[in-house]
Amino acid sequence: MKYQSSYWESSVLFKPFDFIILGAGLTGKQIALKLVKKHPKARIAIIDRLPFSYGASTRNAGFSCFGSVSEIIMDLKNTDEKLVFELVKQRFLGIQKLVDEFGAENFDFIQTGGFEVFTSEVELNLAIEKLPFINHQLKQLLNIDAMYQTKSIADFNFNYMCSALFNPYEGMLNPGKLNHTLSKRIHISGVEPLYGLNIEQLVKMNDGYMLRAANGMAIKTQQLIVANNAFSSLLFPELDIVPARGQIILTKPIFNLPFQGIFHANKGYIYFRNVGDRVLIGGGRDQFFQNEQTYEIESTDEVISYLTNYLKQHILRDIDFEIETNWSGIMAMGNEKTPIVKRLNEHLIVCVRMGGMGVALGPIVSDEVIKML
Ligand SMILES: Cc1cc2nc3c(=O)[nH]c(=O)nc-3n(C[C@H](O)[C@H](O)[C@H](O)COP(=O)(O)OP(=O)(O)OC[C@H]3O[C@@H](n4cnc5c(N)ncnc54)[C@H](O)[C@@H]3O)c2cc1C
Repeated sequence: MKYQSSYWESSVLFKPFDFIILGAGLTGKQIALKLVKKHPKARIAIIDRLPFSYGASTRNAGFSCFGSVSEIIMDLKNTDEKLVFELVKQRFLGIQKLVDEFGAENFDFIQTGGFEVFTSEVELNLAIEKLPFINHQLKQLLNIDAMYQTKSIADFNFNYMCSALFNPYEGMLNPGKLNHTLSKRIHISGVEPLYGLNIEQLVKMNDGYMLRAANGMAIKTQQLIVANNAFSSLLFPELDIVPARGQIILTKPIFNLPFQGIFHANKGYIYFRNVGDRVLIGGGRDQFFQNEQTYEIESTDEVISYLTNYLKQHILRDIDFEIETNWSGIMAMGNEKTPIVKRLNEHLIVCVRMGGMGVALGPIVSDEVIKML
């Protein structure tokens, strides 16, 4: 359906906005809520292609985590030490801010603790060797003793080494509820939600931007804040961003499930948790790297069968289970792990490339954007 505007629409509803946020995932919604607090009289809109967001924010695994020890060790090989630990710190503080601002009960946040599990003794020992150094660095930044510890997982009957690494501050949350909590606040905030608009083109003008949607609608704004994460690379191909699909499967309820909490394996490429008495497992991107560099939100037989076999071999080895459902979401990666939060010109800010950490980083990057406005 092509849109044709009436006089009433163009003179009232689509009068130019002061601020438009493009993308109503967790990042865009937090920017919108903070912006209306800072500029209560401004005309602000938030745009998304679908009614409740369709990227990563409602399609992730619901982990509240800061980086497994093996992931940190891997990052230390490629990235400046200061940046690596700063990112762990920001993720830690970001989750605290989510709890403070929205209330743990409003997104089912539970601090279960997070485990990193190992199939190889060599890798486990390598990680244990680095623990004192990593804990020391984080003590300097966060004043927390022994952020990562060793802990036995013998009771879980996994096919992993009996000893695991444990971070008592990590936990789980419900991303659907978190998004819903933010949406409810948007609806009473005075921010105009313009959902159902797929923006195909951004036209730079002297006094701002015009956003052209696939249905022909054109909306103007003085300040544009782009917060559509991986999909920003379709509008700004010059940005160092590649899409990275994450696929997930969820079992039917399992009687007497022997474990609770969030778990990482294989340097973070495998993640699993309980969802009540079900098991959710996701990842495996390292096995299907090329195929998973895509903007397509769909599941593939190869990844589903890889994750199902992994679940059988390592996690539910003596337990019968059935898969209830599967889904996928799109993350944004790049050569660097840090998000891109910057002003590109006097009318345009981008806040994108959350690197698979946007649940935790959303509260921090949205603060950075607000400081620029
Ligand atoms: C499987 C999986 C596991 C994850 N695990 C974790 C984790 O453990 N910890 C963590 O912190 N994070 C994790 N993440 C990442 C986290 O979910 C994302 O970083 C975060 O949700 C990004 O939020 P966002 O709002 O920046 O982007 P998105 O949620 O992708 O939102 C972007 C929005 O922009 C909209 N949009 C895009 N293009 C257009 C357009 N042209 N016009 C209109 N609208 C548009 C989309 O519909 C979407 O709603 C995971 C993600 C996945 C997929």
